[in-house]
Amino acid sequence: MKKISLFLLMTALFMTSCSKKNEVVKMGTNAAFPPFEYTEGSEVVGFDITMSQLIAKDYGKKLEVVDMNFDGLIAALQSGAIDFIAAGMTATEERRKNVDFSEPYFSSKQVIIVKADNTSIESVEDLEGLAIGCQAGTTGELYVQDSIPNADLKSFKTGIDASLSLKNGAIDAIILDELPSKEIVKRNSDLKIVDDDFCTDVYAIAVRKGNKELLDSVNKTILTMKANGAYEKLINCFMPVDGNIVIPASESVTTDKIVKLGTNAAFPPFEYVDGKDIVG
Ligand code: GLN
Repeated sequence: MKKISLFLLMTALFMTSCSKKNEVVKMGTNAAFPPFEYTEGSEVVGFDITMSQLIAKDYGKKLEVVDMNFDGLIAALQSGAIDFIAAGMTATEERRKNVDFSEPYFSSKQVIIVKADNTSIESVEDLEGLAIGCQAGTTGELYVQDSIPNADLKSFKTGIDASLSLKNGAIDAIILDELPSKEIVKRNSDLKIVDDDFCTDVYAIAVRKGNKELLDSVNKTILTMKANGAYEKLINCFMPVDGNIVIPASESVTTDKIVKLGTNAAFPPFEYVDGKDIVG
């Protein structure tokens, strides 16, 4: 009898984890932020997308990517339209009031983009009183509002839209995250970056406040990726060689703790050998 009920319990558990696989976990992003998220044909790809696929896999669900405006992401998360945000989103104290952030997964900074022939803007101090383009709802926009005296702030849906405005002379400069800026400049020889360390950013995944189950799972994925080489592979795949890549140290959990699980890998489907791996 005991054996039968144990078997039924194990079967029920097995079926639950299988049926979960058919459920989706929805990730919100803004696919105009290469190399983190961008489109290739009709597909949304990038560092954050591949990382989210690993997050979804570890969470036992299928990933659905929802592409939207960056400044609508937090409201979408709060309303339940999406389950997490992976959008090169900086973990700011202000945003922490409305979302829970994962372990940091990337360190970045803001840079200035100007016309290639501009000689008057050499640092952030030179931006005083000028027309500056930003992506709406970003830390770059906040920086302009808070720290550049008399700036004429122009907000755009994407950094790429801002770059078009800079090219046609409607604005004097753009403040945007470093790697997307490098992508823009790479594609536009009439633009250049002024690199002046004035504002650093640390990216993290955002989940709905209190969604501890998903947050724990995301953190586990990030820590595992950093430990098992998957993170490095992603960097090599998506980041420019001169990208000034910084992997931030994990904040709360250390990876040097090991939990040992005993099993007998000859009991499929619960545990068995698949190549070099023990799976089940
Ligand atoms: N890191 C910036 C922010 O969080 C910009 C992110 C983005 O535009 N995708 O505000």
